[in-house]
Amino acid sequence: MPSLVIPRDLLPADGRFGCGPSKVRPEQLAHLAAVGPSILGTSHRQAPVKDLVGRVRAGFRELFALPDGYEVVLGNGGSTAFWDAAASGLIERRAQLASFGEFGAKFAAAAAAPWLEAPDVRRADAGTRALPEAAAGLDVYAWPQNETSTGVMAPVTRVDGDSGSLTVIDATSAAGGIAVDPSQFDVYYFAPQKNFASDGGIWFALMSPAAIERVERIAASDRYIPEFLSLKNAVDNSRLNQTLNTPALSTLLLLENQLDWMNGSGGLAWADARTRESSSVLYEWAERTSVATPFVAEPDARSQVVVTIDFDESTDAAGLAEILRANGVVDTEPYRKLGRNQLRVATFTAIEPDDVRALTASIDYVLEQIG
Ligand SMILES: *Cc1c(COP(=O)(O)O)cnc(C)c1O
Repeated sequence: MPSLVIPRDLLPADGRFGCGPSKVRPEQLAHLAAVGPSILGTSHRQAPVKDLVGRVRAGFRELFALPDGYEVVLGNGGSTAFWDAAASGLIERRAQLASFGEFGAKFAAAAAAPWLEAPDVRRADAGTRALPEAAAGLDVYAWPQNETSTGVMAPVTRVDGDSGSLTVIDATSAAGGIAVDPSQFDVYYFAPQKNFASDGGIWFALMSPAAIERVERIAASDRYIPEFLSLKNAVDNSRLNQTLNTPALSTLLLLENQLDWMNGSGGLAWADARTRESSSVLYEWAERTSVATPFVAEPDARSQVVVTIDFDESTDAAGLAEILRANGVVDTEPYRKLGRNQLRVATFTAIEPDDVRALTASIDYVLEQIG
């Protein structure tokens, strides 16, 4: 029934609700158009691009209020590349990983590299979460702060494990949208196509002195590490505001503008309050709508940046997403492998809370028409 037309005055001003790539604000595109001509098409080894990388690194330092000694490291390849880099140069012998969705499972698979001891994987069903637990013989504890495939979030609190063990957080969809205390992590890594509203293909990692020391120690050992995955190489290049190979410059420009916007609007506390407001609109809507229920049963585990809503058999969620798409409201489909009768909606920092309200009004209208 994609011919159903949702009245214009009900529709969100911006219909992008995908979990990545996600909504890019018009101001970011204006920045790209204004500054791009002096940056795009110029060498990443010259001052203009290195200065841009430096401003982005400083923007993260400010947003996360990084303690002295923490460094902003970057490299090409996105978060997926970081998993292999971590298996190559961050995990010393054995890691514990929490796996409660697609992304946690992927890092767990990467940590099963043949030169490491088999990882200790703590699994939980989709829609619930597994938390880390201290145990002997583990040198990395890793989990996602936000599991994007299911809309489950988990606290970032250091694990009291063996001395020197590192806490490593996949913050790909959490960073810039959910508050975090840097004293509670050693590595907080992400790619900028979620709350940072930029394009993918690059990773950033906020690293504690202990994490950098680990990276240097493994790099100095006789372990073979491919150059592209070398975190030591990334640390050294980042200190010079460079990457090993050519980065996408437009991504960095979009990111610069997003960081300025976030830092100028009230920083991480502001972003955290904004995503909480947007996600609450949806959870409260689902609680009061008879055909809808929040997928994540435990209120505390419900993500404030990725909202998953199940529908009962009377409603075809895929058909609903299709009607929304035909009306310009896109990417509300559930994670492809989850296979549920569900809508998944990003409430990232760039998304206006009022557009989330308009989305619920639009869904109400469609339900009324097809009901
Ligand atoms: C999107 C996402 C990833 C994958 O990021 P890429 O940059 O595409 O590799 C990893 N982890 C989480 C939690 C994500 O949301």
